[in-house]
Amino acid sequence: MEMEIQITAGPIAENPPPLACSGAAGAWTEFRGLVRGEENGQPIGALEYEAYPEMAERELRRLLTELSAQYPCLSACVIHRVGVVPVGEAAIYVGIASAHRAEGFALLAAFMDRLKQDVPIWKRRALPLDLVGDDVRRLTPSSQKPEAPHVVPCRSVDEALADIRLRCAPLPPTRTPLAEAFGLVLRETVCAPDDLPAFDRSAVDGFAVRCDDSATEFRVVDSLRAGDWKPRALQPGEAVRIATGAALPGDGLQVVMQEDTQREGDLLRVLRRDTNLHVRFRGEDLRAGQALVHDGARLDAGALALLATVGHVAPLVSPRLRVLHLTTGDEIVPPNQVPRPGQVRDSNSILIRSLLRDWPCDVTHRHLPEDFETAWRVLDEGRAANADLLLVSGGASVGERDFTRALLERLGFEIVFGRIKARPGKPTIFGVNGHRVAFGLPGNPLAHFVCFHLDVATALGRLLGAAELPQFLPGKLAVELRDKPCPRETLWPARLEWTGFAPVLRPLRWRSSGDITCLAEANALIRVPAGCGVLGAEEEVEFLPTMRLTAGRTTRPDET
Ligand code: AMP
Ligand code: MG
Repeated sequence: MEMEIQITAGPIAENPPPLACSGAAGAWTEFRGLVRGEENGQPIGALEYEAYPEMAERELRRLLTELSAQYPCLSACVIHRVGVVPVGEAAIYVGIASAHRAEGFALLAAFMDRLKQDVPIWKRRALPLDLVGDDVRRLTPSSQKPEAPHVVPCRSVDEALADIRLRCAPLPPTRTPLAEAFGLVLRETVCAPDDLPAFDRSAVDGFAVRCDDSATEFRVVDSLRAGDWKPRALQPGEAVRIATGAALPGDGLQVVMQEDTQREGDLLRVLRRDTNLHVRFRGEDLRAGQALVHDGARLDAGALALLATVGHVAPLVSPRLRVLHLTTGDEIVPPNQVPRPGQVRDSNSILIRSLLRDWPCDVTHRHLPEDFETAWRVLDEGRAANADLLLVSGGASVGERDFTRALLERLGFEIVFGRIKARPGKPTIFGVNGHRVAFGLPGNPLAHFVCFHLDVATALGRLLGAAELPQFLPGKLAVELRDKPCPRETLWPARLEWTGFAPVLRPLRWRSSGDITCLAEANALIRVPAGCGVLGAEEEVEFLPTMRLTAGRTTRPDET
C-alpha cells in the first residue's frame, strides 16, 4: 500500500491532495478529527499536541502496514498536526483509497482505534478559552524547545510524565494462546463474531409450549437436551420437554417451569403460567459486531472467559516484558545477612520485584559493585541489551561513585532527563534506546516506591500498550497536612480510605526519603504542590493510588 505521512506544526489544508491512485480505486474514504470545545467537561480554547516526529512517522507507517494486511487498500494519506490546535480545527486527517468502500471504512476504523495506543503523539494539555486566535498560534510545541547539551535535563512532574508517555512506545504485539494470556494487555478490539447467545435457549428445565396456546393440558411430543438442534413447528396442544440451555425448537414459544407442571406419560398438565417466557433470546447479551473487549484492556479472568465464549483463542497481545533490575552500592548486603557497622540490608530488590508482580513481566536481578569499570565487567551486556526495561537502583545522583548515568550512556541510552522537581525522587534518570527504556532510581526505598508508581508504572503501561496509565485522582484530606514549604512538588505517602463513595487520604509520617516504615501502610501518594506548607483537613487534593486491583504473575524463582 502506498503511504504519505506528515507530522506538521501548521494547519491541515481543507482539501489535502488525495494520493495519486490507479483506476483500481472505487472509493476514497476521508476522516478529519477536529478539536472539540470541551475537555473533561471544561470549555477549552485549544489542545496542544506533542510528538517525536520521526518515531511517530515510523509507528504510523508500521501500523498502516500491519492493518493493510487485514484490510487491503490501495493508498493512505495521514496528516497529524502537532503544537497548539485551536478548537474547530483539524488535529488529524486520514484519507484512504480502496477498491471498495468496505475495506476503506474498515481500515480507517481499525487505524483510528489503534492510533492513540500505538503512536507517540500526545495530547499535552488543554488551553483555556481565553487563549484563542493569534496567541494560540504563537505557542510552539514544547517538544521543540532545545535542551543545552551540558545540563542534566530537569523536569517538573508533569513534564517528566509527558516525556515518558511520549518516548515509550508499545512493543510489537504477538498472538498468544488463551491459556497463557492471563494478565497480558490486549492489543486489538475483539468484536462478537455472532449474536450472544447465538440461538434462543431455555433458561430453565421445563416444557416449551406456544405462547398463543392457553390450554392447560398438552401432549409431550419430544424431549430436547442442551446441545440438541431439532427445529420443529409446535402445534396447539403440543409441548416439548426442554432442559436448561437447550435450543428452543422454534419462535413464539414460552417455557413453563417443570415445578409448575404435572406429568403422566405423554400427558402434561400446566398448573401455573407466569408472564416470564424463561427464554434467553438470541443476541440479548450482545449483538454480532459489538465490541467485547477493547484494545488496551488487561486480560483478567472475566475477559478471558468472554474471549473463550466467542472462540477468539489466540488474542493479539503485548509480549511479557523482560525487565533487568540492577542494584548498586558496596554497603548493600542481602536481607539474610547481618549487616556490619555501616552496611544496610537490600530492601529495594524485593520492593521492585513485588511491585512488578502487578505487571506481565519477567524480572532478572543482579547486584553491581560500586566501581564503574568492575561493574561494567560484571554486567552481562547481552542481558542488558535484551531487556525491554532496565532499572538501576542507586547511584543516580552526582556523587563520585554514582555511575548510573554513565552506565546507561555506555549501553547506548539517550538520557531524556536526569532529575525531577519532586520530593522524594529528585535524582531520577530516564533514558531510551530504540524501543528500550531505562530508569536510574535514587537508592532510598521511599524514593524507589514513589518513582516506581509515578515514572516506572507509566513506562510499563506505555510499553505494554495499556489503555489506562497511572493518573492523579481527586480526593480529600482526612486531617491537616503541615510541612515546611518545599520548592519541589511532594509526593506524600498516605493511606487511602473510602468513606461512603469518596476517597479520603490520611497522610503518613515520614521525614526523609530514607524512611521505610510508612511503606508498610502506604497505598497512595498525595500530590502536595511546590511551595505549599499547609493543607487543611477536608481540603481537595490530587492523589496517585499505588495499589492495583488486577492480578499479575509471579516471577520464576531461578531468576534471582
Ligand atoms: P544512592 O542513590 O546510591 O546514593 O543511595 C541512597 C541511599 O539509598 C543510601 O543510603 C543507600 O545505602 C540506600 N540504598 C541504596 N540501594 C539500596 C537498596 N538496594 N536497599 C536499601 N537501601 C539502599
Ligand atoms: Mg549508592
